[in-house]
Amino acid sequence: MSDHVECIVVGAGVVGLAVARALALSGREVIVLEKTEAIGTETSSRHSEVVHAGIYYPPGSLKAELCVRGKHLLYDFMESRGVPHSRLGKLIVATSDDQMPALEQIKQRAAANGVPDLEWLTPAQVKALEPAVESVGALISPSTGILDSHSYMLALQGEAEDHGAMLAFHTPVLSGRVRGNGGFEIETGGDSPMALSCDILVNAAGLYAQALGRAIEGIPAETVPPAYFCKGNYYTLSGVKTPFSRLIYPAPEQAGLGVHVTLDLGGQCRFGPDVEWIDGIDYDVDPGRAEKFYAAVRKYWPGLPDGSLQPGYAGIRPKIQAPGEPAKDFMIQGPQDHGIANHIALYGIESPGVTSSLAIAEKVMALLDEAA
Ligand SMILES: Cc1cc2nc3c(=O)[nH]c(=O)nc-3n(C[C@H](O)[C@H](O)[C@H](O)COP(=O)(O)OP(=O)(O)OC[C@H]3O[C@@H](n4cnc5c(N)ncnc54)[C@H](O)[C@@H]3O)c2cc1C
Repeated sequence: MSDHVECIVVGAGVVGLAVARALALSGREVIVLEKTEAIGTETSSRHSEVVHAGIYYPPGSLKAELCVRGKHLLYDFMESRGVPHSRLGKLIVATSDDQMPALEQIKQRAAANGVPDLEWLTPAQVKALEPAVESVGALISPSTGILDSHSYMLALQGEAEDHGAMLAFHTPVLSGRVRGNGGFEIETGGDSPMALSCDILVNAAGLYAQALGRAIEGIPAETVPPAYFCKGNYYTLSGVKTPFSRLIYPAPEQAGLGVHVTLDLGGQCRFGPDVEWIDGIDYDVDPGRAEKFYAAVRKYWPGLPDGSLQPGYAGIRPKIQAPGEPAKDFMIQGPQDHGIANHIALYGIESPGVTSSLAIAEKVMALLDEAA
């Protein structure tokens, strides 16, 4: 006999917490199983803490839809719950004439995605706003902002728990199976190994979502996408006063948005993330990457002094496409994708996953309700 719970969410990152909150608010019984000791210790605490506007993603994609919807939901949530954030805006700068078409494409995509507020800036206007920045032109995105992502996750956790959700830490899901008569059986390891059964299973395991999908017997193997890891390293600015008051982004690269300036709510500046494809999870920042960072940042901030960059931290993008392949969309699988009732699997939830988190939770609820 195993203990039964209505819903199991695997993973207490920002997405698992948002989903658990939505399930709890709908009156369902929920337990979140998390292998580490706390909420948000993996990708959800290793990112840029930017509220993205929704301007980069192909119109009609889940990333476009959920980022734009998620941004509105997130700002409303943070304002009403007192989660620290700032709509400080961002500049996307072209540093050579050949980058201007890429900015024009961003402006068009933004408008198609329902973000009509991007404006062109001349080099003189850029200088007036951000004197340290050199450019041949820029776009300004006023609805881009920053947030204290840990406070946001604590607020999600608090509301989920207030509505009856439980979180179990040190509880890795090791195995499980789809039951023939409906529902799931789940076995955990950790301090207090458990055997549980549930009616609804949500896989929000981030970088390990594919491993989890493969560990649950009955999930068709062909529906679990391949997993690729793409590290993004950050460097911090040390011994120099931050010369920026907004986020500064270069024209985007293929696997990331380019080494950009992000600011935290205390005004501290960090640069990143870069793009480093890796074979396994490893969060060390190689000091040897500094030269590439100086070169990337000096394209738009030529005044960056020697010796001012220090290795910071790294996050890992959960990619579902191999290096060099075109960018893929979020993969949110419901019963129509894998043929299993009451199972939602979230794969490839890379940026803008924080911004989209409340909208992803809405999507998960809609898929569950649709199938009910
Ligand atoms: C470099 C970088 C920069 C980014 N910048 C931004 C940004 O500025 N703005 C933005 O909106 N998004 C950004 N993102 C994307 C965002 O960080 C992610 O989309 C988001 O954090 C994903 O959250 P998650 O809950 O899906 O995954 P995670 O935070 O990884 O959570 C998954 C959880 O599942 C747990 N887990 C895994 N396997 C098991 C198991 N078997 N049993 C139990 N628990 C398990 C893990 O321990 C983890 O806590 C960035 C991402 C990266 C890598």
